Amino acid sequence: MAEWIVGSKTIVVFVGAGLSTESGIPDFRSPGGLWDKYDPEDFYFQNFLSSETARQKYWQMATEMYESMKDASPNAGHFAVAELERLDKLDCLITQNIDGLHFKAGNSEEKVLELHGTAMHVTCLSCRRRYERGDIQARVAQGDKAPRCDACGGLLKPATISFGQSMPERETMEAYRRSQTCDLFIVIGSSLVVQPAALMPVAAKEGGAKLVIINRDETTCDHLADMIVNDSAGPTMAAVLEEVKTLLGPG
Ligand code: NAD
Repeated sequence: MAEWIVGSKTIVVFVGAGLSTESGIPDFRSPGGLWDKYDPEDFYFQNFLSSETARQKYWQMATEMYESMKDASPNAGHFAVAELERLDKLDCLITQNIDGLHFKAGNSEEKVLELHGTAMHVTCLSCRRRYERGDIQARVAQGDKAPRCDACGGLLKPATISFGQSMPERETMEAYRRSQTCDLFIVIGSSLVVQPAALMPVAAKEGGAKLVIINRDETTCDHLADMIVNDSAGPTMAAVLEEVKTLLGPG
């Protein structure tokens, strides 16, 4: 894989929740992941809009996720992806993650496309006012089970994309375009089950890129991959980056 990285001009890295499990943030679909505890059906956007009970359940799960994220530190996998950027070997990083760890690891805003938004902010669904997540969580901790906007009374929701909610247009279009035009597409820690994010590796292959998948379990795109590494993201990526740096040599 290191040779492919060194020999490629346009590298897109696509990551999922599996990149952050080594930082102590559970994914959804591994054993013990969040879908062992919660029913995804309860978290459809339409239910959030229409039912106070659904909003309270949503905030309960969102609070649990946020607690695991807010003080988390990047792991070796995040640092390896940030290192790719420093080495000028990253065209863009498409992330399904909402935990903000890429920025803590050193990736820059202009390289990262957050397809599913971020858990670090909260937005009002009516007037779009943006809040710091910590400020709203303080209200939840004091018993406000489904907080509303101070300005207009609208529904507050973490700035993440739920099932049934529209994807962010700019990020999705840009991610698709970059996937189609890259020459190496590296998936790290994603089951590639969630759509439309999982269309990106297919677009990359159709555009002629090599596809590498680093994931502990099977993914929906294994049949398309040029290389599959069924191992942990952090140690795998750290070893690959060491090799890349050796191949690139000093300077
Ligand atoms: P997923 O839960 O569907 O799949 C994660 C995959 O990562 C699994 O196939 C698992 O085998 C693999 N994995 C877990 N730990 C790994 C490790 N250390 N090394 C290598 N592979 C590992 O996750 P997804 O595909 O990202 O989709 C889930 C959705 O959930 C996304 O939309 C994302 O927005 C959201 N989510 C985000 C976070 C986060 O921000 N950290 C956490 C949970 C869920």
